[in-house]
Amino acid sequence: MYQFIVLMYHNFSDKRQNKYTLDFKTFNNQLDKLLVDGFVIEGFDGLLKRIKSGEWPERYVLITIDDGHRSNLIAAEILGNKGAGGTFFITKHYPNNQGDYLNQDEIFELSKIAHLGSHSVTHSNMTKLDPESLNFELANSKLWLEEITGQEITTLSVPGGFINSKVVKAAIDNGYELIGNSNEWWNNTSEIQHSRIVNRIAIRNTFSNHTLYKIINKDLKFFIGRKVRSGIISLPKRILFQ
Ligand SMILES: [Zn+2]
Repeated sequence: MYQFIVLMYHNFSDKRQNKYTLDFKTFNNQLDKLLVDGFVIEGFDGLLKRIKSGEWPERYVLITIDDGHRSNLIAAEILGNKGAGGTFFITKHYPNNQGDYLNQDEIFELSKIAHLGSHSVTHSNMTKLDPESLNFELANSKLWLEEITGQEITTLSVPGGFINSKVVKAAIDNGYELIGNSNEWWNNTSEIQHSRIVNRIAIRNTFSNHTLYKIINKDLKFFIGRKVRSGIISLPKRILFQ
């Protein structure tokens, strides 16, 4: 059984906008640390190839970047310059409604240097949609990205991390091969082959290099701590944070 971590980023800016916005220097430093530690860094496209080939590097981490902020083009250049990969999950309606997002020309540009996936049409909680709306979110966002990029889109990140068996089945029925969630845990290859679901941990700008070290080394105390913080499990805090 082969295990690995998937990191989830969002926006990059030197101005802190929210806890998910990292400055480029921190992003650069984190990538350099991973590379110095011998990690091979890829996106979901690399993972799909490795699931088929069964060839896994000694140390492996995936980078995913959600929402399609305009800063993602620079992030993709940084990754490319370091010989690293990543998957950028784009939401269809964001570019039309808000200024900070990649427009269609920029999405095309991004597709030339990085792997793209769908992040739905409207960024709705997919578990709450009726079957028709769910199908629309999955099918229309895929088709839209395929028309812009001229490439087949086969990976999805569910908005807000909301996922259930209906969402997974509808995604697979719509031709998605991998589905990223926001379950902050590591992955193992046999589970992904069975479920098609990829666990991802959201990188906050409050995370130190030491925290990143804990993440990539699958520090059990850290990961259980994340579950407690998100309310998924409850344990006395003195056990976790002593
Ligand atoms: Zn999102």
